[in-house]
Amino acid sequence: MSAPEYINDISRVKGISDKELESLKPVMDKFEFKSNEYYLSLINWDDPGDPIRRIIIPCRDELDEWGKLDASDEKKYSVMPGLQHKYSSTAVFLASDSCGGYCRYCFRKRLFIHPEQKEFLTDYQAAYDYVRRHKEVNNVLITGGDGLMLSTGKLEEIIRNLRSIDHVRIIRIGTKLLSYNPYRVINDPELSELIKRYSLPDRRIYMMLHFSHPREITDISLDSCDMLIKSGGILCNQTPLLRGVNDDPQILGELFNKLSYMGIAPYYIFLCRPTVGNLTYAVPVEEAFHIFQSARGLCSGLGKRAKITMSHADGKIEVVAMTEDNIIFRIHRAADPDDSGKIFICRRNSQAYWFDDYSEILETVYHQDLEY
Ligand code: SF4
Repeated sequence: MSAPEYINDISRVKGISDKELESLKPVMDKFEFKSNEYYLSLINWDDPGDPIRRIIIPCRDELDEWGKLDASDEKKYSVMPGLQHKYSSTAVFLASDSCGGYCRYCFRKRLFIHPEQKEFLTDYQAAYDYVRRHKEVNNVLITGGDGLMLSTGKLEEIIRNLRSIDHVRIIRIGTKLLSYNPYRVINDPELSELIKRYSLPDRRIYMMLHFSHPREITDISLDSCDMLIKSGGILCNQTPLLRGVNDDPQILGELFNKLSYMGIAPYYIFLCRPTVGNLTYAVPVEEAFHIFQSARGLCSGLGKRAKITMSHADGKIEVVAMTEDNIIFRIHRAADPDDSGKIFICRRNSQAYWFDDYSEILETVYHQDLEY
């Protein structure tokens, strides 16, 4: 099949009635829409609660007041437009200014709403120079937007330059295109060749995928994943835990299992950041942890590899355990290296959506004070 056509005008989506279109106008005034024929064909239009529909089709609840546009203070960690350096070993290139569809729950929707703020990478030479000077950077994530929306030629240029820096061992490409448009991989054998050329035995290329629901894993997306694996790419999956999409242990467990069958490591399950428009997709921390643990109970060890975390301004905060009264968090990746591994024991709060909602911190334990 030829590449599906991208659709930015929601009135062209056949399954949406005129009445619904009218009611969505205020949402469309505020947020961007993008999808494509392939992904829209996965929707069961007879089901108003269809999870694929929920991922891509706007809803009125996006107008609920909540959060900020930059919920994790990403700008604070930008060392130049389009280059973030928050964790010492990781540099992030916001290289692509687009995606194969716009997830309604996107945590970077500000980039699409306010392109004039120029948060994308344009000065690549300066970015390579920065990474070259920072010898602690052993991995670079190419994302955006979606890393695979870049042409294969542009990706080749970026990867070639990064491969010339000896201390960069891992190159990651962040993409939801294997869900939104797997034809990007299928129709472009040069992309697989590129992965093959640069994913070396001692310095791999990782593809950070974004399957949120088992129904996104179609025969064609299976083929596209298989092509990347056969090219030597290492595939991992990360997704937020989303109300009405995967907030059911059976669904999430099925997703973990299918990924493990495909040879894809379930990597992170994210709690929804408090981003403007996203309240309707968010699941409170403790409910999410319960769903996550129940889903893991349905999986083998290989399906159980994901961690449930918050991409907080201070770092990736993992939810580790819950007792009847308390909840335990650990800083899995810390913006300040001194915070790495720090544990917080907090009084439970069933209404909390984010770490900051836990006002009662009972105990803080520093990594270096732990006995192993
Ligand atoms: S693929 Fe990522 S960056 Fe693109 S819309 Fe979805 S969440 Fe946002």
